[in-house]
Amino acid sequence: VDTRQPKAVPLKLEPQLVPRPLWGKSAAKLFKYRAVWKKIRRDALQKANGACEVCRHVPNELYGDPLNCHEVWKYDDRLRTATLNAFRIHCVKCDSAAHIGMAITYGAGEAAIAQLAKVNGIHTEDAKALVGRATSIWRVRSKKEWTLRISKNLLTRYPKLAELISAKWPEED
Ligand SMILES: [Zn+2]
Repeated sequence: VDTRQPKAVPLKLEPQLVPRPLWGKSAAKLFKYRAVWKKIRRDALQKANGACEVCRHVPNELYGDPLNCHEVWKYDDRLRTATLNAFRIHCVKCDSAAHIGMAITYGAGEAAIAQLAKVNGIHTEDAKALVGRATSIWRVRSKKEWTLRISKNLLTRYPKLAELISAKWPEED
């Protein structure tokens, strides 16, 4: 039991590290320059009223501070399935905190931990504990093979997402 977990309420933003075998396998990557991704992003932005859905920040795109369309993936450790469940609009800071493994790799770990603490209303030490736990989960998940799935809801709305399942992904290092 992690006694440092400060609150019973769900956190606004939880760091989740993408298991190594799934690196690079994303809707954003597959559909980047295609109409379907533009539609997905536009729909998500509209639903979010043009603000970050975690911290409500409204950026000025003119100053190179855009909003990202974040993919919410749910991992089932028993079935070994990774299911694309939703899209959520993130500002740059919240996106960096959500993808904290990458932020640390690129030397932006401290700022990402600060954002994680800020949006969740927790202390820096507690945010670090969250990252530690996410990293342990990541290690276990990275040793497994995963099957990609798309939630029924998303598939109904965007049938092209099925290509995520059938895609031939290039081998990552
Ligand atoms: Zn934000």
